[in-house]
Amino acid sequence: MSADCIFCKILAGSIPAKTLYEDDEVIAFHDIRPLAKVHFLIVPKAHIETLKDCTTAHQALLGKMMLLAAKLAAEQGLVGYKAVMNIGREGGQEVFHIHLHVYGGGPAA
Ligand code: AMP
Ligand code: ZN
Repeated sequence: MSADCIFCKILAGSIPAKTLYEDDEVIAFHDIRPLAKVHFLIVPKAHIETLKDCTTAHQALLGKMMLLAAKLAAEQGLVGYKAVMNIGREGGQEVFHIHLHVYGGGPAA
């Protein structure tokens, strides 16, 4: 938990989110600025700043995030979609708590 982190605040319940899925390791919620009709984020509960901070200790968690992307995308009715992680400021990352973007279904309304 990091005091300044918006995703840690969502995890703590102090900022609301439209949650699709939650277990003891991850949460998934809809992105507040969707890039497509369906756009959600898969976020580990541990505050890990970027993929660059991950080690083999995180291998199972990262694999779980990918498989959850497929499961939740199917539940959201997506046939094809993107699963993207932005890494580092130069990679377009704005929130420094790792997350997988999953989006598709055509242009946002
Ligand atoms: P990134 O650029 O990969 O760090 O993406 C951060 C994403 O978090 C952006 O797509 C934002 O729209 C999204 N985001 C920021 N604040 C919130 C929030 N309070 N609830 C849901 N999504 C958020
Ligand atoms: Zn955090």
